[in-house]
Amino acid sequence: MEQEYTNYPRFTPEMKKTHKILIPNMAPVQFQLLAASMEQQGYTCELLENCGSEVCELGLKYVHNDTCYPALLVIGQFLDALNSGKYDLDHTALIITQTGGGCRASNYIHLLRKALVKAGYGQVPVVSLNFSGLEKDSGFPMTMPFMRKLLSYIYYGDLLVALRAQTEPYETKKGAAKAAQEKWLDILCDKIHHDRSWSMREMKKLMPQMAADFAAIPVNRVPKVKVGVVGEIYVKYSPLGNNDLEQFLASQDCEVNLPGLMGFVQYCIYNYSETARLYGGNFLQRHGSDWLLRGIENTETLLIRTLKQHGFHAPLPFRELVKLSKGIIGMGNKMGEGWLLTCEMIELVQAGYENIVCAQPFGCLPNHICGKGMINKIRELYPTANITPIDYDPSATRVNQENRIKLMLAVGRERLTERPVH
Ligand code: SF4
Repeated sequence: MEQEYTNYPRFTPEMKKTHKILIPNMAPVQFQLLAASMEQQGYTCELLENCGSEVCELGLKYVHNDTCYPALLVIGQFLDALNSGKYDLDHTALIITQTGGGCRASNYIHLLRKALVKAGYGQVPVVSLNFSGLEKDSGFPMTMPFMRKLLSYIYYGDLLVALRAQTEPYETKKGAAKAAQEKWLDILCDKIHHDRSWSMREMKKLMPQMAADFAAIPVNRVPKVKVGVVGEIYVKYSPLGNNDLEQFLASQDCEVNLPGLMGFVQYCIYNYSETARLYGGNFLQRHGSDWLLRGIENTETLLIRTLKQHGFHAPLPFRELVKLSKGIIGMGNKMGEGWLLTCEMIELVQAGYENIVCAQPFGCLPNHICGKGMINKIRELYPTANITPIDYDPSATRVNQENRIKLMLAVGRERLTERPVH
């Protein structure tokens, strides 16, 4: 038995030329850019789009049913893809992220390897994408220049998501914002393939062009119910994980605010030094995060400025977001999305997105504490906060989830009509 887990196939440098890497689809926009960046590095990859009930069923079949729902879906999606017959199994690899934090997400990779053996795909190597030096024998080679590029691409993705979300509900010509997003994704992927677009000079040129394109789309900005979405990172972003939550909210005539993926990256960086500050560590460990965060602040400032200059709502700088935790939640709550989840809810309420869906996967204790567990406290401070926790698990039905969200929206609509028109 032991042999199965220590003798797993390693992803060797030679496999870069021979294997196709399958990527689970978590954040569809940002991950398209990440896939392009891997291709630029010489890898062949494919972003998985398979979904449906088989994915969850396979997850349930090959991992223990008390496993976190995101792990169950990611593993199920991989197995469903391998079962499809579309891939040459001797030349296929899988990639999975490891946060490096204390939560179970750092260990999904072992569950995946175990499931692969059980399902008869023991020859398929798993690559680990992490920033913490984990899985040295099968880790995706992470260099500082590549890391720098990845962060730029995530910022581009966050910008495109924000621009579309704030334009689409108001557009007078249906499909214009979606088309603009697809156009820019094509442009960016092409640039990434040619190793362009990641420098600050390029970003200063491209980001305003992207925003100007969306700002030029004809809109009718009638008041709509504004909904924020927070939660565990996978179910928050992945349409597979949250039963197409964004699309459902759009069908209910809402404007949706999905906080950017970079917030989570910054949170992970911040926590590295916070751990040392709380539990002890040397000078570098206590302050390393600050230097790293300062290093990406320019790009964050550019994104915020771009949004504001073109008339869109912009998120708070991470530095300000951190302060929202004061008196509400301790910074030691850093398992899962931890204090970030609470701060995002407060930020959304303050920005007028007071109707919030808090997406929680089955088996996720940290997010039940920092999400659902903080709702009363937030309501106490912000009485207009209209937050609904929604559970996502294999037995939860879409109808049930959507009915609960509809109840929240009914309150949001009532308040919208009561609000004085300026
Ligand atoms: S955050 Fe929740 S879902 Fe994610 S690994 Fe931790 S317990 Fe599991």
